[in-house]
Amino acid sequence: MGSDICTNYEVCRLVVAEDYEIEQDKKVAYIKNYCTAGISKWTACKRYITKSELNFCPDFVRPDTALSPGEIVDKFDEDKSLQ
Ligand code: SF4
Repeated sequence: MGSDICTNYEVCRLVVAEDYEIEQDKKVAYIKNYCTAGISKWTACKRYITKSELNFCPDFVRPDTALSPGEIVDKFDEDKSLQ
């Protein structure tokens, strides 16, 4: 079923970027628990929500990041090391 897998799966840096900084076991867990876990899960992913609202998603945002998209953009703007 197509909706099992996130519509961002093939472009999401967490999934596809070799330079995305994350431990391999965490990446595997996120993919299992969010990216491929069905539409109710991947639409709850903060990376999915952030990309939907802002049209981009900084690398520091994880599926279970507690910040709102507004707080994420503030953090991104304030910390030049993230850009
Ligand atoms: S991390 Fe989130 S936005 Fe990226 S593919 Fe997985 S569910 Fe989709």
